Amino acid sequence: MRDFSQDISALALNTATLGHNLDGYGAGWPPERVIDACAARGLGGIVFWRREIGRRSVEIGDRVRAAGMQVVGLCRTPYLVGRDAPAGLDEAKASIDMAAGLGAPVLTIVTGGTEPGTKGVLESQKILAERVAAIAGYASERGVKLALEPLNPMFGGNRTVLMTVADAVRVCDMAGAPNVGVAVDVYHVWWDSALAEGLAAAGPDRILGYHLCDWLENTRDMLLDRGMMGDGVADLKVLRAAVEGAGYAGPCEVEVFSSSDWWRRDPSAVLDVMVDRFRTVC
Ligand code: ZN
Repeated sequence: MRDFSQDISALALNTATLGHNLDGYGAGWPPERVIDACAARGLGGIVFWRREIGRRSVEIGDRVRAAGMQVVGLCRTPYLVGRDAPAGLDEAKASIDMAAGLGAPVLTIVTGGTEPGTKGVLESQKILAERVAAIAGYASERGVKLALEPLNPMFGGNRTVLMTVADAVRVCDMAGAPNVGVAVDVYHVWWDSALAEGLAAAGPDRILGYHLCDWLENTRDMLLDRGMMGDGVADLKVLRAAVEGAGYAGPCEVEVFSSSDWWRRDPSAVLDVMVDRFRTVC
């Protein structure tokens, strides 16, 4: 396993950790201030959310690289299935364009929930695979990989039809495109005792991201009460050993949705704690 105690070049900030994924939360730092704060701490990269970027993808991507870091990814496509998915794939293609403008190699897909008129997840997974296949070529032409992120099963119904890495790998196989893979998030997989098998099925070329946080023993809000690494019960060393054991050697992005705790703190202090925890408990 990589040793992060001295080298944090694999560390990336997902700006959701500063509340930048949702309207009405966070300190509202502009991207430039986030970039400077991350560069000052020696991070290797940043993952942005679409709402921060607007029409400035090229400018912000260049700014990140000028600061000596990489844009590691972009969150995320619109839902592709389920009641809340937009009609057609234009918005998904626009999100691919934004990732390409940023120079982000990976665009995350949170799938959306069970497709109207169906039950369960299997039929929706087939529809999802068709829609992913329909945008994969467009993404490939622009140098963007698509990372299907399975979510904790409690998000089934309205947010996801992928509950495990194995689910995501099955949809990758159905989509049949070389630039489609899986994003592995501690919050969503920490409980999965069959994780290693799912990761082995994915293989090193299809593991496109590793997202860090912690699972608090008494989670108060399913969506917005993630813990900082070290504050919960996820076995972070074992999880990273599983991901790296399957061949992943890429960035580790910290993604802490925390409306009642971390988003209320000074972002500079949050970043300092994040770096310390990355060195010591991840
Ligand atoms: Zn994630």
